[in-house]
Amino acid sequence: MARYTGAVCRLCRRENKKLFLKGERCYTDKCAVSRRASVPGQHGKARARKSSEYGIQLRAKQQTRRYYGILESQFAKYFDMAARKEGVTGENLLQICESRLDNVVYRLGFASSRKEARQLVLHGHFTVNGKKANIPSILLKAGDVVAVASKSDKIKNVVETMASRPVAKWLDCNKTNMTGRVIDLPKREDIDLDVEEHLIVELYSK
Ligand code: SF4
Repeated sequence: MARYTGAVCRLCRRENKKLFLKGERCYTDKCAVSRRASVPGQHGKARARKSSEYGIQLRAKQQTRRYYGILESQFAKYFDMAARKEGVTGENLLQICESRLDNVVYRLGFASSRKEARQLVLHGHFTVNGKKANIPSILLKAGDVVAVASKSDKIKNVVETMASRPVAKWLDCNKTNMTGRVIDLPKREDIDLDVEEHLIVELYSK
């Protein structure tokens, strides 16, 4: 499975925005965006100044894709799904991204970042509705139950570390049993991603 293997803080610096890709470090003053706000690379400052209409739309798409750790081709598929669904396409797109299993595991506090969540899912640490689920891109729906299959020390430690973080309100989490349920798929106001999703729709509609 293809995945981005480069330096993740570089992605945040490119977007000049915290994308919370590194777990606990993102909440400390070691965060690279807090320390060095410039766009990475030799011509970073010059690139940061360019802001054509296309450039703004492209940045909105890249921020969203990177925030959720989704590759280009899969993101384009999600856009097609979102456009076919009833409702506002941009909001549908974010809802689809949020409903991925790796994102739900992260939102439940069973992983400190989406990257870690993806890895734990791939290693078979979770079940969905009682069945082993090791595909991070599985899309969950209202009523689905996610449970920690193997209560390893690693996951227990993560859950303890993340205990103070609020769980998304569209999820119901039982930290004692290490299970979580999707109450309902999130509405736009439940999603804390600071992006104007209509820009993504405009980009794909060209
Ligand atoms: Fe982004 Fe986290 Fe790195 Fe900060 S520490 S730049 S939020 S990945």
